Amino acid sequence: MTAVPVLIGVRRPVEERAGQAAVSGPLVDTHGRTHRDLRISLTDRCSLRCTYCMPEQGNEWLARTSILTLDEIERVARVAAAAGITTFRLTGGEPLLRPDIVEVVQRLARITGPGGEPVELAMTTNGIRLRHFLPGLVDAGLRRLNISLDTLRHERFRELTRRDRLDDVLDGIAAAAASGLRPLKLNAVAMRDVNDDELVELVEFAVAHGAQLRFIEQMPLDAGHTWNRARMVTREEILEALSARWTLTPLPGRGGAPAERWTLDGGPDSVGVIASVTAPFCGDCDRLRLTADGQLRNCLFSTTEYDLLPILRAGGDAVETGIDRMLRSCVRGKLPGHAINDPSFLQPARGMNAIGG
Ligand code: SAM
Ligand code: SF4
Repeated sequence: MTAVPVLIGVRRPVEERAGQAAVSGPLVDTHGRTHRDLRISLTDRCSLRCTYCMPEQGNEWLARTSILTLDEIERVARVAAAAGITTFRLTGGEPLLRPDIVEVVQRLARITGPGGEPVELAMTTNGIRLRHFLPGLVDAGLRRLNISLDTLRHERFRELTRRDRLDDVLDGIAAAAASGLRPLKLNAVAMRDVNDDELVELVEFAVAHGAQLRFIEQMPLDAGHTWNRARMVTREEILEALSARWTLTPLPGRGGAPAERWTLDGGPDSVGVIASVTAPFCGDCDRLRLTADGQLRNCLFSTTEYDLLPILRAGGDAVETGIDRMLRSCVRGKLPGHAINDPSFLQPARGMNAIGG
């Protein structure tokens, strides 16, 4: 019989411990979807108060003690990569508000999959403080950026985000445009009587900055629960507005991506639409989410969460196995699609800032 060495009191590195979890293969759900994308929310705090996401005041913040530490995030990420996750997208709240953001990127960018392939590291940000952080983030291994921009008008921006920070956002976009990060994407939530007269301008701005504009249909995820289907701007309306300016030609090869894409006047420039409400893409969804307080979620709209916090905080060598099991339970529990269009739909208790968009 071969003797099994028992290590007492020796804490093995996270890299080594994550290997133990890669025994059960990829994260395939009961509907045959393989999960490859993990959205990691780093904080629920934000420098803006977008009306479709957060209330102006009175937000119930996550307890600071429950926010995952850098070591905890890395531990989850390593197990996820061992189970076949290939992309991490950092989000929030505003990820750049996290004081250790450069170190988070550095640590996650070093992670590799079961075959030794590096993960892809992306971030969604409101752009404020981006100029300051960008060189460090790129050096640390950030590969892709999505920046949110709903309007180019100062007064409108102030009303929509309840903060007068448009110049800071534009400064961040200029820095991103000057960097080598491509594709660079700008996200805009289309809103009736708010920015629906600006759709063409937003696309022109993106093209001028070497970026791709992606319009998002507004979803029922605002912390104030004020979403109104009758008022949301639909995919069809967005396409109609853009068609008055460009000939739109659908681009094939969407895969699991949330955005449908069209070339503008034959390309190479393009525009995308994320139509979660009127043309859901759940059948190809490959995403999981980790909230800043350690809850795994299998859908933006889910009302069920899988709590990693007690597993992480229990410590010891069983943590990796526990994370792996929880990832698999979360994937197994995934429904075929969200039910926004069902009369019985219940909006999740968390606002988008606390889920991670
Ligand atoms: N603070 C960062 C930002 O704004 O880019 C990252 C987090 S934010 C929650 C991620 C994305 O979700 C943003 O592009 C934002 O516009 C989008 N979003 C937030 N609430 C939304 C809603 N109710 N419907 C559609 N998109 C929403
Ligand atoms: Fe903050 Fe992003 Fe939500 Fe706007 S959408 S309030 S920038 S988290």
